[in-house]
Amino acid sequence: MRFSGLRVLKEGLTGNKVWQSHWRDATPKDAYDVVIIGGGGHGLSTAYYLAKEHGITNVAVLEKGYLGGGNVGRNTTIVRANYFLPGNSEFYSHSLKLWEGLEEDLNYNVMHSQRGQIALFHSDAQRDAAIRRGNAIRNQGDDVELLSVADLKRMLPYLDYDQARFPIYGGLLQRRAGTARHDAVAWGYARGASDRGVDLIQNCEVTGIDIEGGVVKGVQTTRGAIKAKKVAIIVAGRSSQVAQMAGMRLPIESHVLQAFVTEGLKPCIDHVVSFGMGHFYISQSDKGGLVFGGDLDFYASYAARGNLPMVEHVMEAGMTLMPAIGKAKVLRSWGGIMDMTPDGSPIIDKTGVEGLYLDAGWCYGGFKAVPGSGFSMAHLVATDRHHDPAARFRLDRFRTGRGLMDEEGTGMQHNLH
Ligand SMILES: Cc1cc2nc3c(=O)[nH]c(=O)nc-3n(C[C@H](O)[C@H](O)[C@H](O)COP(=O)(O)OP(=O)(O)OC[C@H]3O[C@@H](n4cnc5c(N)ncnc54)[C@H](O)[C@@H]3O)c2cc1C
Repeated sequence: MRFSGLRVLKEGLTGNKVWQSHWRDATPKDAYDVVIIGGGGHGLSTAYYLAKEHGITNVAVLEKGYLGGGNVGRNTTIVRANYFLPGNSEFYSHSLKLWEGLEEDLNYNVMHSQRGQIALFHSDAQRDAAIRRGNAIRNQGDDVELLSVADLKRMLPYLDYDQARFPIYGGLLQRRAGTARHDAVAWGYARGASDRGVDLIQNCEVTGIDIEGGVVKGVQTTRGAIKAKKVAIIVAGRSSQVAQMAGMRLPIESHVLQAFVTEGLKPCIDHVVSFGMGHFYISQSDKGGLVFGGDLDFYASYAARGNLPMVEHVMEAGMTLMPAIGKAKVLRSWGGIMDMTPDGSPIIDKTGVEGLYLDAGWCYGGFKAVPGSGFSMAHLVATDRHHDPAARFRLDRFRTGRGLMDEEGTGMQHNLH
């Protein structure tokens, strides 16, 4: 079933009778070449690229809940490639290029909107840091522009520029950055993988990983045992728990991150705006809701909901930046479980168990990584070689101390990255 504008028009006029399910609801087989644990954005994109790029289709994605019910359907949908450090910058650059061709590739409207992201700065020192970051982004081959206060006032007239605490000195704009419809990304990859023969199995929780003589043999699930030649752990906030089933202790803490959406308003915010000093960022969804969020709740947890002190902090930051937001009514808030690494950068690597692979540690920035991570993880699982743009995402950097990528410069504090 291909989507096109003409098709949507025709079906709309003739009663929408021929649309089919977007993917097959598969029953688990006894054995697969590859089992992927986790049906989030990264698990589904890995399955898709395994099938599309490597012709490996005897694959199952095992999801304990429903597809897209995890962080991939809970995030604030910001997509950008403005990282500073080697390792991160080439990876996110590759991922953004995949985003730019994603709708055509998947034949699915993921509502990718390159509306531009502006990161504000509030002092001369921060301007210097922004320029340095901008140079690194350009050296990587991506776009970035330095904005003066006058530029900003034209583009974002609704900000409070002269607030006493964090007066605005300028911003760094990436025009190719923006947003996408988060659950459509999961559905698009699910459909693409399923069409190529991948089995997507929902309500199937992995409860054990079978290992014999240091080699992975399969998994135990709530729907029975499944044999597999290769197993990939791609479970985001649950990474430590699932890795523990293979006897591994990961350098990951799970923390809650909350997000908020207001009632639908007329278009008023044209970009994604990040206010780092206030731990606040905001954009406007295509339905009109203002979508915003802040920092992690400051405690480790597996609860997909947050607490009121962080709600208050986020609202205060929003009011500081744009007082007019006080007139909007917040409709909903929710939380997701973030897999925080000590250096704030992710892991795409083999493990000490033969045939067992790990894709984790996306912290609060893994939505933009969905295409790149799936592409690189599929490459690793299929070929047993690291894909160049993700080659520095090694697990052993936390043991050896070599190759750490502390993008935020906050040190070994999981909750500060
Ligand atoms: C509030 C919020 C805002 C965010 N904003 C952004 C943003 O603006 N930009 C950005 O780039 N990133 C953002 N992120 C981060 C991003 O959403 C995550 O890093 C990314 O989605 C994680 O990868 P995933 O999609 O594979 O995770 P998930 O969707 O969580 O997928 C993991 C899946 O594994 C399943 N699972 C777990 N255990 C098992 C098991 N034992 N057996 C079977 N299945 C299992 C889970 O049910 C889940 O569906 C945000 C996250 C949150 C919560």
